[in-house]
Amino acid sequence: MVNQPNSTSADEAPYIYCEDLFKIYKSEELEVVALRGLDLSVRSGEMMAIVGASGSGKSTLLNILAGLDQPSAGRVTVGTRDLLTATDEDLVDYRRSEVGFVWQQTGRNLIPYLTAVQNIEVPMILEGRSLSAARERAGHLLNAVGLAEKRDRKPTELSGGEQQRVAIGVALANDPPLLLADEPTGELDSATADEVFQVFRHLNADTGVTIVVVTHDREITARVDRVVAMRDGRTSTELVRHVQFSRGAGETIEEFAVVDHSGRLQIPREYLDQLGIERRARVDYVDGHVEVRPEHEPDQDEPPWKRR
Ligand code: ADP
Ligand code: MG
Repeated sequence: MVNQPNSTSADEAPYIYCEDLFKIYKSEELEVVALRGLDLSVRSGEMMAIVGASGSGKSTLLNILAGLDQPSAGRVTVGTRDLLTATDEDLVDYRRSEVGFVWQQTGRNLIPYLTAVQNIEVPMILEGRSLSAARERAGHLLNAVGLAEKRDRKPTELSGGEQQRVAIGVALANDPPLLLADEPTGELDSATADEVFQVFRHLNADTGVTIVVVTHDREITARVDRVVAMRDGRTSTELVRHVQFSRGAGETIEEFAVVDHSGRLQIPREYLDQLGIERRARVDYVDGHVEVRPEHEPDQDEPPWKRR
C-alpha cells in the first residue's frame, strides 16, 4: 500500500478510502465544486468525526458515502465496493445492506404515526424478516440505545435526544457495518447531545460498527478516536487523541496537517498572514525538517508596513 492518505495504520487496508474526490453540482448557469480533491481513509471499526464550517462539503461527502449521491471524479471505495462506478442498482443494494444513516432533522428519521419499536421493525420487515424476528431484534436495539421502557411511544411522545436514539436503532436495524450521521445532535442541547454520543460510543465498542459523524460539537475530540477537519471541499487538519498509559491516565490531543496523495498540505491562513506569504514560498529541507519561508525575507531595518 503506497500513498494511503490519512492512513491510521499502515498495514491494514482502509474500510473507507477516498482519493482526489471531486463533486461538482451543475445547474444551468453555475457550477459549484463541493469537493475538490478530497482524500480520506477510515479503518474498519473506527469512530471518527468530521468537522468544518458550513459549506465546506461535509454533507456532500456523507451523501456520497451513503450511496445517496455519486461523485464527479476521483476514487471512493467502501469495503470492496467502488461507489464511483456503481450502478443505480448497486447503490440500492449498498444502501440496504451496508450503511445506516441518521439525519439532523429528527422528523426525517422516524415515521410519526409508528411507535419506537415499530419504527425499528420497518427496515427489517421491508427486508423480508418475519415479524417475530423483527420484534426481537427491535427490542434488543431499543435496549442498546437505552429506550427499552419507551418502546411503545410515538416520536411526538419522545424528547429530541430520544428520537435520535430511536433513529440510531432504525439505522442499525439490518446490522450494517457502517453508520453515518450528519449533524445528529445539531438540534439538541449539550446534555442530550452527550447521551446520543454515548450511544454511538457503546455501539461502536460492542458491535465494532464503523461510525462517521459530521458535527459542529466543540467537545467532539473527547468523544471519538479521530477528528478530521474539512475546508473548501478538502480535508485540512486531523486531530488524534492519544491515551497515555505511562504517567497516569492522561490524554493528549495532537493536531496534524493532512498531506494528500500528491504531497500537498495546507498551511493555516494565520501563519501565511504572519509570514507575509502570498503566491510563492521558499521550501527547504533543513536538518531533518522542512522550512517554509516567504519569497522575500523581511528586511528588519524597514518599517513593518514596507516589509514583504
Ligand atoms: P456542509 O455540509 O459542510 O455545510 P455541503 O456539502 O452541504 O456543505 O455543501 C458544499 C457546497 O456545495 C456548498 O457551497 C453548497 O451550497 C453546495 N451544494 C450542496 N448541495 C448542492 C446541490 N444539490 N446543488 C448545488 N449546490 C450544492
Ligand atoms: Mg451539511
